[in-house]
Amino acid sequence: MLSIESNIQFIKGVGEKKARLFNSLGIFDVDSLIHFYPRKYEDWSDTKKIRLAQNGETVCIRATMITPVKEHQVRRGMTLYKCKFSDGSDIVHVTVFNNKYLAQSLRVYEEYVLFGKIEKNLTVSSMSSPKIERAQTGATIHPIYPSTGKLTSNAISKVIKTALDSMDDIPETICTSIREEYGLIPLDKAIRNIHFPKNKMDIEVSKKRLIFEELLILQLGLMKLRGNKKSKSVVRIETDYSDAFENLLPFKLTGAQKRAISECISDIKGNYTMNRLIQGDVGSGKTAVAASVIYTVIKNGFQAALMAPTEILADQHFKSICSLFSKCGLNIRLLTGSVTVKEKREIKSLLIDGKIDFLIGTHAILQNDVEFKNLGLVVTDEQHRFGVKQRADLVNKGTGVHTLVMSATPIPRTLGLIIYGDLDISVIDELPPSRQKVRTDIVNSGYNSRIYKFIRDAVGRNEQCYIVCPTVDENENDIKSAKQFVQELSNGPFKGYNLGLLHGKMKAKEKEAVMQSFSEGYIQILVATTVIEVGVDVPNATIMVIENAERFGLSQLHQLRGRIGRGNKKSFCILVSDSKSESSVKRLAVMKRSSNGFEIADEDLKARGPGDFFGERQHGLPQLKIADMVEDIETLHLTRDCAQKILKKDFTLDLPENRHLCEQITKMFRQIEY
Ligand code: ADP
Ligand code: MG
Repeated sequence: MLSIESNIQFIKGVGEKKARLFNSLGIFDVDSLIHFYPRKYEDWSDTKKIRLAQNGETVCIRATMITPVKEHQVRRGMTLYKCKFSDGSDIVHVTVFNNKYLAQSLRVYEEYVLFGKIEKNLTVSSMSSPKIERAQTGATIHPIYPSTGKLTSNAISKVIKTALDSMDDIPETICTSIREEYGLIPLDKAIRNIHFPKNKMDIEVSKKRLIFEELLILQLGLMKLRGNKKSKSVVRIETDYSDAFENLLPFKLTGAQKRAISECISDIKGNYTMNRLIQGDVGSGKTAVAASVIYTVIKNGFQAALMAPTEILADQHFKSICSLFSKCGLNIRLLTGSVTVKEKREIKSLLIDGKIDFLIGTHAILQNDVEFKNLGLVVTDEQHRFGVKQRADLVNKGTGVHTLVMSATPIPRTLGLIIYGDLDISVIDELPPSRQKVRTDIVNSGYNSRIYKFIRDAVGRNEQCYIVCPTVDENENDIKSAKQFVQELSNGPFKGYNLGLLHGKMKAKEKEAVMQSFSEGYIQILVATTVIEVGVDVPNATIMVIENAERFGLSQLHQLRGRIGRGNKKSFCILVSDSKSESSVKRLAVMKRSSNGFEIADEDLKARGPGDFFGERQHGLPQLKIADMVEDIETLHLTRDCAQKILKKDFTLDLPENRHLCEQITKMFRQIEY
């Protein structure tokens, strides 16, 4: 007997080699196997008469084999097997390539079900390598799994069947009362039916149950991760220093910045910990808002920490914040992966002694041995790059600590609800008056020489330029890589100019050196991948050329474009794309039309769906197997209520009825550990 914990190698027919193939799909035990769902189904119950099928149509035909199989060796390694089938309406000529096993199993005058594409010309109907099964045994609905090269959908289906046949009932995760309340079938039935449905109804009700379960587990996990939201604050903030801070600034804060600051201050002066998200478009001045709150916290005698997603950003924050605070005599330190061991040791000891007021860094500041004396506020910048777990860990560094999250990704509200849970939100919907609207143009590569001249002219005026490419190395389908660009440009149109190269595969130190050199103005033209997407601030850069622009998401393009137009000079974003696809053209047009991040995000979500919206799983949420955060938004709301109910009764999920649910939460959230 198998249990859900059994290793897949215990399943009959799964040897070491096959197990490894399953492992590459993330399947290690029976549990992950039975939760590996079909991507779609082929409905073989809906058969069609050969005579009525259209040329090119994918059809299911029920027909009798009327000629024996003829073998044709075309050349070495290529054998064709041909035979004919009839369903009374017409005859179809079937060709099977190389599949000797199948060919030998076919019997004249037996009835079969054929599934595949049919080709018709004036006289003959034919099918090439259709799927063929005996009519009596053939199931009517066939699951299609996301297969890999070596592991076919059929093979996966067979193993799942063997596993399910040698198992007792799958342990139920959702207790009866909740199942009844929400109209959900038992897990055992849902799993068996999702893999081997007898009809469409089976699929529907199973899906409903499994989607509900998955979202419920997600909600429960997130709620547990966040713990009890409204925790009493131990950080006593008595005095508001935000006016004093504004006097330190070389500019006047915008109305929106002031509003955000006062919302934060009123949070931290209250009895509960602050949990606030500052959402503002690129360049809206979130750093100044955070700095103001940090200033107040430190002046009240507490330490503060700021975490950025990359070293470049941490470094940049460090520099700009040091200069903002230069007149206040605060002790501010930077802790990243590239700080020397000696300095790290020094920082740690100063930190625990309370001699550092403000620590800025990357996730290096999450390490266990980094301890604060009296941490009062944690700020994370560009939050969408951190996982929910990382944020929770940071908060746990201090007790009753306030958190402020800055995000430049305007995200549609529905997704925001899940990712940010019940954070309070301040929106900065106003740009500083000095900011220029960036002019955006879309051109094809035929414009290259004009673009290069445009860049040379700008560099001649001492301005700088970014050229962004989708890939680092030479690779797939003739997309030019960043490395190739640097090579070609520095020997061609930009001979004699200072070019730099920046990409994610470089060491942190190298990246830093390049960025430094660019912000000092030595590098005139920076060829880069999307590493520059987040936060980088070089006001003297006025041109951004984005090559193969169709390869980027709209939100990503918007983030990239936010790197220019940061000074007082007119700035230009040039999207280069040779793509003729209608959807690409439409998507890029949005960039020309709009500079509103929220509007762009909505378009992006519509065009690409939530899976792609964040790029490579940047949201830090576990990957979902069956539910879809946008399509299943109603269920998402239901499960939120349901999760609250469950936790209210049993916050630690210790009740026997919640045992299996609890195990599944652990499993889902194990994948997001960093
Ligand atoms: P983001 O919201 O993208 O993080 P930053 O905080 O980096 O934006 O601010 C972008 C630039 O605008 C910085 O150079 C900053 O000094 C400047 N800035 C911020 N607030 C104002 C303001 N109220 N007036 C003028 N410039 C400002
Ligand atoms: Mg920023």
